[in-house]
Order: sequence, then structure tokens, then C-alpha cells
Amino acid sequence: MFATVGWIENVLNEVAPAETAESYDNVGAIIGRRDAEVTKILVALDCTLDVVREAKELGAELIVTHHPLLFHPRKNLLEEDAEGRILCEMVRSHLSLIAAHTNLDQTELSGSASCARLLGLQNVRKETNYLFLGEFEKPVKAEALEGKIARALSFPVRCYGDGGSLISTLAIAGGADDGDWQEAKALGAQALLTGEVRHHNALAASMSDFVLFDGGHYGTEAPLVPFLAEYLQKRLNDVQCNVRVYPSQCAPFGSV
Ligand SMILES: [Zn+2]
Repeated sequence: MFATVGWIENVLNEVAPAETAESYDNVGAIIGRRDAEVTKILVALDCTLDVVREAKELGAELIVTHHPLLFHPRKNLLEEDAEGRILCEMVRSHLSLIAAHTNLDQTELSGSASCARLLGLQNVRKETNYLFLGEFEKPVKAEALEGKIARALSFPVRCYGDGGSLISTLAIAGGADDGDWQEAKALGAQALLTGEVRHHNALAASMSDFVLFDGGHYGTEAPLVPFLAEYLQKRLNDVQCNVRVYPSQCAPFGSV
């Protein structure tokens, strides 16, 4: 049995239905051909030029990413900007792209759920579309948790709030979701881990005895890549489909 881009799009739809994505989003098959045969898939957070090169070296026909290309409509396809170069190179190389973005954010394969797994949280549950909560075995001081999160994510983390606060329930909203802190507090969490914490939210949260951890947009979403690759490989193995799935080794910001 051989797989096609369209067939793998359906496999992804089973775990993260495209119709659950936000209306502004761009998910599913975006570049290439749905009837193209696939023997190797490269999974990445972003479809950068480095990721395209890595896919070509591997001999992959399909790239699956979290963040879509063509998120903003284009009026030309010139190689004068970064996205234009990537799009042209993908077309020249007969590469296809599928993205699972806000639809994936709502599932057990989201950046949030992946971070919860890496942190060893218990009783992990999805409380709203994008907010996951879980408990630590014993309460941990925010100042100690900052280092624990940084080690789990392999990424720098900044703690906003009282470092002496005891955290037993942590909310997680991977990516750019710091506006969810009030909802997280109302749901019983003492802290929220997200990326891209804005000053006004950090200030308001800390004045409400709530702690915000900024693990970076990349730091809180990159953990989903190996879990998504593992899911795809397992699904393909289950139907005895001879496709290899590789998590990308590219880090867009070097060795931060
Ligand atoms: Zn994101």
C-alpha cells in the first residue's frame, strides 16, 4: 500500500479536524499535489528554507508543519522575500506541505499538551479550546519551577510574578496566548506557561497574585514536533504503510 499527500492529510484530520481550525487560519494541504506518492515525511514547527533543504537531503516528498505558509494572501510568487524563496524551492523540488495549526492546538498533540508531558504533570486536561491544566505531585515554588520548565523545554524561560508563590496547578497555552491568564486563574491554576508574555499582562497577573512563565513561542511549541512525528509513524505502521517519518533537526534560532 502506498500513501499520498491527500491520504496523510486525512490521517491528520482524524486527530485534528481541519474544520476546527480558526477561520483566519490556513490548514491542511497547502503546497504540492494531493495525489503525490509519499515515502518519507519531515515534521517541523516551521517550513523554513533549512527545513526544505533537510527534506530534500532525506528524500522526503512531504513536509508537515505546525505553522502554515501562505498564512497571509500573496499577490506574487517572486524569490525576493523569504516565503517566496521557500515556495519556489518547494515547487521546483516537487515537495508538498500540510499544516496543522489551530486545529492541532486543541488536541493532545498540541504544544501545550506536549509541554505538560515533558513537565510530568498529572491529571492533564483540556479546559477550554487552547488551555490545558495539570497538577504537580507536590506544590513547587515559582522560582524553582522556572528552572524546571527551562530544562524540560530546553529553552530559556522568564518568570513574571512572586518567585515564592507555590504552584500546584499549572495552566499551559503554548504559542502566543498570554491573554488567557485570567481564565487560567478562574479555573484554579496558580500560574500559566505560555510564550510571548506582554508587559501589561505580566503586570496585571502579578498584581493578582498570579504567575506567568514566558517559555517563548518556539520553546512552548517545538516540543510538539517529536510527538506529532510519533503519532504519524504509529498511524502509518498500523495500516502497514511503508512511510518513514522524521522530526526535523532544524532550530530556527540556532543554539539558544
Ligand atoms: Zn505558534
